[in-house]
Amino acid sequence: MKASEATRLFFENAADKVDLDDSMRKLLLAAEREVQVQVAVEMDNGEIETLVGYRVQHDDSRGPMKGGLRYHPDVDLDEVRSLAALMTWKNAVVNIPYGGAKGGVCVDPNKLSRKELERLTRKFVDQIHDIIGPHTDIPAPDMGTDHEIMSWIRNQWEKYHGFNPACVTGKPVEHYGAEGREEATGRGVGILAFKLLGRLGRKPAETRVAIQGFGNVGTHAAKFLHEAEFKVVAISDVTGAYYRPDGIDIAKALRFSNEHGRSLNGYPEADRISNEELLGLDVEVLIPAALGGVITSENVDQIKADIILEAANGPINPHADSVLHERGVMILPDILANAGGVTVSYFEWVQNLQYYKWDLNRVRQELDHVLTQAFEQVWQEANDWQASLRTAAYIIAIRRVHRATVLAGI
Ligand code: NAD
Repeated sequence: MKASEATRLFFENAADKVDLDDSMRKLLLAAEREVQVQVAVEMDNGEIETLVGYRVQHDDSRGPMKGGLRYHPDVDLDEVRSLAALMTWKNAVVNIPYGGAKGGVCVDPNKLSRKELERLTRKFVDQIHDIIGPHTDIPAPDMGTDHEIMSWIRNQWEKYHGFNPACVTGKPVEHYGAEGREEATGRGVGILAFKLLGRLGRKPAETRVAIQGFGNVGTHAAKFLHEAEFKVVAISDVTGAYYRPDGIDIAKALRFSNEHGRSLNGYPEADRISNEELLGLDVEVLIPAALGGVITSENVDQIKADIILEAANGPINPHADSVLHERGVMILPDILANAGGVTVSYFEWVQNLQYYKWDLNRVRQELDHVLTQAFEQVWQEANDWQASLRTAAYIIAIRRVHRATVLAGI
């Protein structure tokens, strides 16, 4: 199933509950603008590589559009379209004043040098600079991109439009970035894990966790949960998965990964298993924090966890989602579970617009506040409708975007 089809089905489930009429469904589902550009990059060996980049702007009824930029070989227009729509619903669920957008370049960033990555990023900005900006569409990091890349985006965008660091978020702290942005998505997953466990009367120390993906989101989620005494028994990256039933020392694993080019390959203190096996481990909590579409009708029967936190965007397809829901598995949906990142991006944007810097404590407190409020609202809505947390989150999001659209006038 295509990624955009999956996002549409989740939307439709909630739209059915609130009896949203067909014309409004059509309006809310369609992207406002889809841009595809050619990005020609000179490689270090002098050859020219021609890549394809996308920026999809889904909806701006609640504010400037906001969403990450992904560098990955699987990026295509359909994936970016789906991720842009998810951003609209995510920003609405946590009630920050943004619409949704997403960008991507079809490229394997691991095969490029830093200089090549920089040339690629600057060239991409050359192609889209007039449709992004602090009051229209604000990019941020996603898979395969990092704070240094955000710095290049800012620098290149400012060459056309003048000083305005609010044109992109997820920048280095020395370059108008927010304290706590890098940890925010993973930390948010941890905060929400606590809330959910509390509601279910479970204790962290009795909770085994498996995490797929050990990048920005996976490492910070693992660190937070490990420090909060959850038992993280498995972690993984593109090289494979690493399992230790007694619990993995996350600080040690992080040190190993940092010393080995951000790779867990050969991590000696755990048994090596496959990423597929990790998904089927006997654990209480499963956290997909890498790619989309990893839990499908083909492997759903192997899933043993009874709580899934969607740290990645779109990790469970709609068929698997309904099978898991019927089995009583509690799924915290991506549009809430990983919203900590965009929330702190919003704080960064606010600080940039005010030329005023918050300290880490304030960022963490405000993040906790926003996520707690969103979690409580979604929990309540799910109880009111006797619906899954995903459908409840979509109902809240649709209501807010619908209302803003109507208020603005068509
Ligand atoms: P990242 O590039 O920092 O890390 C991705 C990780 O996934 C790496 O460890 C990589 O080795 C691993 N990986 C890649 N392919 C894999 C595979 N086939 N099997 C197992 N692991 C694999 O990316 P990230 O920023 O941590 O993003 C991860 C997910 O979280 C994505 O779905 C992204 O859209 C979502 N997300 C990220 C943010 C953010 O702030 N970075 C915010 C919201 C959502």
